[in-house]
Amino acid sequence: MAYAISDACIKCGACEAECPVSAITEGEATYVIDADACISCGSCEAACPVGAPAEA
Ligand code: SF4
Ligand code: SF4
Repeated sequence: MAYAISDACIKCGACEAECPVSAITEGEATYVIDADACISCGSCEAACPVGAPAEA
């Protein structure tokens, strides 16, 4: 299963640099994860200050 970013995202950008496969990009309301690219490593969840990324 891939990770997904919830509406709790405050767009701080911290997760983007932590993703080993560059699956995270800035979206309109939140940062977004490309589910096809995500390898479910959990680095974005660890980097996020508000707990927005979670396994979907
Ligand atoms: Fe990237 Fe890992 Fe987060 Fe998936 S779980 S988006 S691979 S940092
Ligand atoms: Fe959003 Fe969390 Fe990523 Fe910051 S680290 S951009 S709050 S998902």
